[in-house]
Amino acid sequence: MIDVQLKRKITPRVANGHPWIFSNEVDKVTGSPAGGEIADVFTHDKKFIGRGYINPKSQILVRLLTRERQDVINDDFFTRRITQCWEYRKKIGYTENCRLVFGEADSLPQLIIDKFNDYFVVQTLALGIDRWKPAIVETIQRLFNPRGIYERNDVPVRELEGMPQQKGFLSNEFDTKIIINENGLKFYVDIENGQKTGYFLDQKDNRRAIRHIVKDADVLGAFTYTGTFEIHAAHYGARSVLGLDISDNAVKQATQNAVLNKMQNIVQFQAANAFDILKQWSREARKYDVVMLDPPAFTKSRETIQKAITGYKEINLRGMKLVRPGGFLVTSSCTNLVSPELFLQIIDMAAKDAKRRIRQVVFQTQSPDHPVVAGIDTTQYLKFLIIEVQ
Ligand code: SAH
Repeated sequence: MIDVQLKRKITPRVANGHPWIFSNEVDKVTGSPAGGEIADVFTHDKKFIGRGYINPKSQILVRLLTRERQDVINDDFFTRRITQCWEYRKKIGYTENCRLVFGEADSLPQLIIDKFNDYFVVQTLALGIDRWKPAIVETIQRLFNPRGIYERNDVPVRELEGMPQQKGFLSNEFDTKIIINENGLKFYVDIENGQKTGYFLDQKDNRRAIRHIVKDADVLGAFTYTGTFEIHAAHYGARSVLGLDISDNAVKQATQNAVLNKMQNIVQFQAANAFDILKQWSREARKYDVVMLDPPAFTKSRETIQKAITGYKEINLRGMKLVRPGGFLVTSSCTNLVSPELFLQIIDMAAKDAKRRIRQVVFQTQSPDHPVVAGIDTTQYLKFLIIEVQ
């Protein structure tokens, strides 16, 4: 039995619902964990807080799986939790494709499961959850009888946990280039080699949010990846759409998606560095009715937050300059450390520098199959904003 006793004075984070216990918050550990075992966590005066998995190699010593003392952590526990996750997605109407398990927000820290219709992609990003992979896979098999399950654990964060990066089949082998349906469109998903789990499910509702503003519009999209926003724009009636991504492979896949939806006459993709080309085009006074930006996260650490702020300001400033008066900027930020308030401030600064007046049309977060939980700040990460640029 491993017991972890916290120091007397720690921040209220854990009491407010956050499941992580940092090693510098711990007074003493009874027993000698090798890593991955289940541990009970107590306050300095021995009140039970919760039960989770421990890894002495990680700065995050314990991640809590439950706050109920009677919960036994075994295979059944994971089956029950994942079943609850599925019941919840069914209730809120996210079934065909969805994030079935969103880690901490589903009380299954560091476990990600994306469901792409009959296919499942799993990430186990900490040692203590990786150990339960057989039970997790067994549960997916039992609940869904899927066509395939794939592990995308080729993620650097695993090394902080003393684990290798790896990817591969967790079921019988299958063709890893699949097609999914979203908002009435079709998209290829490359489960083996695509970014993250292969597809960004979190923007599903946001892609639909552009449907009115793109009608008859000339649209420019930057950071397109497989072209999802751009193909939606064409579907919703855009006159022309150009999508830019720095990766040749992304451009190739985006083009395949345009063909798959028979939209190659309206949507074109081009490999380019968005920072450079947007600057050049605004110098050349090019104009679009709608500009869409969806860059990758600019930082993961507080030390470089200023760099991220500068990056967002820069790219949004350049984007706004390309918008015809009365047109729209559609802009996202998935940097967790940039709060919704800060993102709005950055956009406001960019508008002032661009000498444009703006009005907010839509401001929302990720799709609800990625639940936001108060007290767990990492669960609210996506900012999605549409503004009118006057
Ligand atoms: N909008 C996409 C997701 C974009 S992910 C979707 O909904 O699926 C971010 C993309 O930005 C990646 O494909 C990456 O290749 C691209 N990228 C990163 N830096 C870039 C740059 N400087 N210029 C253009 N694209 C860039």
